[in-house]
Amino acid sequence: MTAPPAPLHGHQSQGNQLHRNPWYTQTVRIVDRVDEIPGVATYRLAVIDEGDSHHDPFIPGQFNMLYLPGVGESAISMSGNPAEGGGWVHTVREAGNVTRTLAGLSVGDTLGLRGPFGTGWPIPNLLGNDVLIVAGGLGTAPLRPLIYHLLNQRESFGRIWLINGARSPEGLLYQREYQAWRQGGIEVLLTVDRPNAEWHGQVGVVTLLIERLKLPRPLQTQLVTCGPEVMMKYAALSGLRLGMTPEQIWVSLERNMQCAAGLCGHCQLGPEFLCKDGPVLRYDRIRPFLFVEQL
Ligand SMILES: Cc1cc2nc3c(=O)[nH]c(=O)nc-3n(C[C@H](O)[C@H](O)[C@H](O)COP(=O)(O)OP(=O)(O)OC[C@H]3O[C@@H](n4cnc5c(N)ncnc54)[C@H](O)[C@@H]3O)c2cc1C
Repeated sequence: MTAPPAPLHGHQSQGNQLHRNPWYTQTVRIVDRVDEIPGVATYRLAVIDEGDSHHDPFIPGQFNMLYLPGVGESAISMSGNPAEGGGWVHTVREAGNVTRTLAGLSVGDTLGLRGPFGTGWPIPNLLGNDVLIVAGGLGTAPLRPLIYHLLNQRESFGRIWLINGARSPEGLLYQREYQAWRQGGIEVLLTVDRPNAEWHGQVGVVTLLIERLKLPRPLQTQLVTCGPEVMMKYAALSGLRLGMTPEQIWVSLERNMQCAAGLCGHCQLGPEFLCKDGPVLRYDRIRPFLFVEQL
C-alpha cells in the first residue's frame, strides 16, 4: 500500500494519518534496545517488509500504536530523530500489560505497529521565535524529536531553552545527550524533586526555573510542554505570567487512547478527540477543560 510522505511541518497539516488506512498494522522487529532509566527503555523498530511505504516520515509529537498479539495495544510517541531513517524509535515506560510485555522482549522479537497518528508540535509557529521546552519525566520522549529538529535547523530559531524535571536525578531521561544538545545551542536547565548525594543542581518544580527565566522576547517565544498534566497546567500559567499569550503555548495531552482514529471516544476531552485533534493542542483551545477535575 502506498501513502504520501507526511510533511515535516505544520500543526495545520495535522491528521496526515488520514491519508492512509489507520487500521493497517505493520509487523516490525526490534533491532536495537537501550535501557535508559529504571523501567524505561528505548526501542528501534524496523519494518520487516522493507518495501512497505508505511515507514513514513513523521512530525515530532506524533505517536504510533504498538500492538502485542494476545496482550493489547498502546499509544507510544515517536522519540527518535525525524531526519534519520532506520526504523521507528520509541521510549517506553513499563506501566501495564502492553508495556511490561514489551519490556520482556529483546532484539529480534517482533510486534505490530500502526501509525503515525495525531498532530505534531507546531513547527511553523516556532520558526523565527525563541522556544521554551518544558519536559517532565517521560514527557521528554515526545519532545526529543522536536529537540533534534530544532538542532537540525538551528539557524531557523531564536534562543532555545529546555527545562527538564524529574522526580530524582536517576529519572532524568537521555542524560547522555545533554552535552550535545548544549553544544548545539540549547540551554539545558535541570531540576529534580528529590536530590541524591551527587546532585548539586536545582531542586523543585519546573515552574521555579521557568519563572526565573528572563524571556528577552515574551511575545516572540513559543512554549511547548509535555509531562504530567498538573505540571503542564502550571507551566502554562508561568508562561502567561512571563508575558506570553495563550496562543503561544502548546501542550501534549496523553489521555487514554484506543482506536487512534477519532472513532471510539475514549480520548475525548470536551469537543476534542485527543488522538486526532491532539495530542498536541494550543493551550487556548484546551484550557477550559484542563482545569475541570476528573474530566
Ligand atoms: C498520545 C500518547 C503518547 C504516549 N506516549 C508514550 C511514550 O512515549 N512512552 C510511554 O511509555 N508511554 C506513553 N504513553 C502512555 C501509554 O500509552 C500508557 O502508559 C499505556 O496505558 C500503557 O499501556 P499498558 O497496557 O502497558 O498499560 P495499561 O494497562 O493501559 O495501564 C497501566 C496503568 O497506567 C495508567 N494509564 C493508562 N493510560 C495512561 C496514560 N496515558 N498516562 C498515564 N497513565 C496511564 C492506567 O490507569 C494503569 O494504572 C502515551 C500515551 C498517549 C495517549
